[in-house]
Amino acid sequence: MLGLGLGLALAALSALLLLLLCRRLRASSATAARLMARTERPLFRIAYTLYTRTKLGYIFHKKQLRKARECYPSGHSVVYPTVINGVKILPVPILSDNYSYLVIDTASRLAVAIDPSDPLSIQTCLEQEGVSLEAILTTHKHWDHSGGNKALKKIYKCCRVYGSSTDNVPGLTDPLADKQTIHVGNLRFQALATPGHTIGHMIYVLDGSPHHGPACVFSGDLIFLSGCGRIFEGSCPLMLTSLDIVNALGDETLLWPGHEYAQDNLLFAASVEPKNVAVFNKLDWVIARRQEKLGTCPSTIREEKEYNPFLRTHCPDLQQALGVQRGTGEDPHAFRARVLEEVRKRKDYFNCR
Ligand SMILES: [Zn+2]
Repeated sequence: MLGLGLGLALAALSALLLLLLCRRLRASSATAARLMARTERPLFRIAYTLYTRTKLGYIFHKKQLRKARECYPSGHSVVYPTVINGVKILPVPILSDNYSYLVIDTASRLAVAIDPSDPLSIQTCLEQEGVSLEAILTTHKHWDHSGGNKALKKIYKCCRVYGSSTDNVPGLTDPLADKQTIHVGNLRFQALATPGHTIGHMIYVLDGSPHHGPACVFSGDLIFLSGCGRIFEGSCPLMLTSLDIVNALGDETLLWPGHEYAQDNLLFAASVEPKNVAVFNKLDWVIARRQEKLGTCPSTIREEKEYNPFLRTHCPDLQQALGVQRGTGEDPHAFRARVLEEVRKRKDYFNCR
């Protein structure tokens, strides 16, 4: 997802464009309301295009970074590293709710950064850990994920910047295709194309077998703990195909998402599936963590399948709770895409409540 803050900013930019339009047309408030209803979507598209395709997006990102550093001098959440047999995973809380990650091969002291959009925070972590940055893996082009690529590449000249060949990733040196692998020291990642949030969105799966531990998926804005990114550049059937890629990962795979949205997402899941015990158990745990400002990742794919409504479109319980029924002869994928559309619509409404 574009962060909730970023989503609101895009909505504000849309409103500003509308205001300018009304002023230009000297429109009355009734006319302005009618204009609003008709232009809301196109204006959002314009704001989104300005954010993703022009310097304005980067300027906005830098402003957000400055604001977040003032509001959260030591990060929005308290996080601890996870160490698994020679691999150290360090979440780096940045902006108001984003996570970047450093993955360190402790034997070679080589590091990989995932979505390092605040170059200063990443540089500090790299220096504290005494490791060198070999690669940046970018899940997608949104500035809150890719905004630090160029600055870090300037500091760490040997560092390669990986990302989809179709997503306009800043500073890209190594465009990736679906299922390509990346090796850094003893770390082996596979890039999987997961379009929907953006057309070139990718997730990265760290192979656990060389370390005799679980695999890890760095999911960017495809999925979060109990949530899923907004569908900006794709359709529901396309997003469903991408979500099924996550559903097919091993149950023990650890999920490292791009945002700290767990509490809000679980409150939404509870409103959609009020009889799902797994939702409420996880929600209790998350509320206790968030009271202490503790981070909530990682979860496992097994857990996500139990409470994340976006991974449960095949479940009769969810379909019934939503009141969505399969039409006679309706293609199963098309039906599940309708279920996904309904969940997504309700979540967007839930965010605006
Ligand atoms: Zn995004």
